[in-house]
Amino acid sequence: MVNMTHGANIHVRLRTLELRLAHVRLRCSGISGLSKNVESVAAREAVRSTCAHGRAARCARVHVYKKYNRAMHLATRLSNLGTETAFAVSLAAADWASKGNRVFPFHLGDMNLPTPANVVAAMDKAIADGKTGYCAAAGIAPLRDALAADVGARRGLQYGPGNVVVQPGGKPVIGKFIQSVMEPGDEVLYPNPGYPIYESQIEYFGGTAVPYRYIETPTGFALDLEYLASKITPRTRALIYNDLQNPLSAESSAAEMQAVADLAIANNLWVLSDEAYFEMRYSGTSQSIASLPGMQDRTVILYTFSKKFAMTGWRLGAAIGPTAIAEMIAKLNTNDESCTAHFVQWAGVEGITGDQSGPAELVNILRPRRDAAVDAVNAIPGMHTARPDATFYLFVNVTQAMANKGFSDVGEFATAALHNTGVSFCTRRHFGRPQPGEAEQYIRLAYSGISASDITEGLGLLRQWVEA
Ligand code: PLP
Repeated sequence: MVNMTHGANIHVRLRTLELRLAHVRLRCSGISGLSKNVESVAAREAVRSTCAHGRAARCARVHVYKKYNRAMHLATRLSNLGTETAFAVSLAAADWASKGNRVFPFHLGDMNLPTPANVVAAMDKAIADGKTGYCAAAGIAPLRDALAADVGARRGLQYGPGNVVVQPGGKPVIGKFIQSVMEPGDEVLYPNPGYPIYESQIEYFGGTAVPYRYIETPTGFALDLEYLASKITPRTRALIYNDLQNPLSAESSAAEMQAVADLAIANNLWVLSDEAYFEMRYSGTSQSIASLPGMQDRTVILYTFSKKFAMTGWRLGAAIGPTAIAEMIAKLNTNDESCTAHFVQWAGVEGITGDQSGPAELVNILRPRRDAAVDAVNAIPGMHTARPDATFYLFVNVTQAMANKGFSDVGEFATAALHNTGVSFCTRRHFGRPQPGEAEQYIRLAYSGISASDITEGLGLLRQWVEA
């Protein structure tokens, strides 16, 4: 009897707790369609049970309805989150194509080339072998070993597996680096024009994004070093550096890279070296800022399989840097995605350690595209570009061509070009907020997703339109 009363008491307490929980859940979720929801029934019961009289219960229900039927709140910090506005160009191109028009896709930073067959076969095998469960947050040991050896050897540096944290792509390295080194209110230097996610992530995590700029030269774009130095303050915590740059295809001379390293060392800055295009080159040899004296211990390298192995959709990359920060980035992995897809990592091992003819072939396909694009652009009156040794982008000066056609707005120029020729491209505006004093107009042509013959045909149409 005593036990039964005790049991009944426990039951009542549990029921009360359950109802309170339902009430709390309702408050947290802000459910609006109360009557349709099981939880809402429990919540109404909860309201009733906590009010002695029906009137009080009604009041409470009205309060709940009013409170949770209003517009849903989204976190304020989201207003600081940027995006890749270049995706809007893809939508406009798709819309134009859906109306029966031919489109020449120079806007894509993606590739229309297949991943090397040995890499695909390695993934198939990994799945067949059951590599389908969770794995270590920092990545599987064979991939960390392979990346440490390969990335180190190509840069003349020693890395061990403890320096390597595998990521689902190169992009996540940006946010994880920023979260690891930047306090809210700190300043972070980033290239502008540049990959738009730098600015987005700095601001999203409460920092101040401080742009630095480039100067056009006859052979490409050079960093405005004086300007960069002038932007360093006591609040500057880190510098994001993207040699072999998107969208400029800028490549630092040895002196320029050394000057950037000197600034980083003199001001005790962390450096994120975005090396997404390190091996996407047609001539010459890539250098990493991490290789310069005093830099390895302050630099995190963004490594990606996306371009070298035409694996943009696989999502495989790595952060490579000092162990202290690598450990923190691994902890962020645990919180964010647990691990990068297990079988994809085994494909990455094959990519790094297996037959290298696949990536070499990709470069061989891209080289004639670059040449076709450079030659065709430079044949268009009022447009010019240098011939980059790396990446798959041309940042084309179109100032005179726009003026000839009567345009002052580069966005309007891009839309008119699409509608008159089918040539689709991003503009300078897709790569960061234009800086005060910018007088020249630029577009970015990507030749990774379009064949050499289509390049020649599309840019031929663009020329006819500009000349008309
Ligand atoms: N960094 C730069 C400069 C890029 O251009 C890109 C992609 O286009 C990335 C990073 C991100 O690469 P991933 O596709 O591996 O995330």
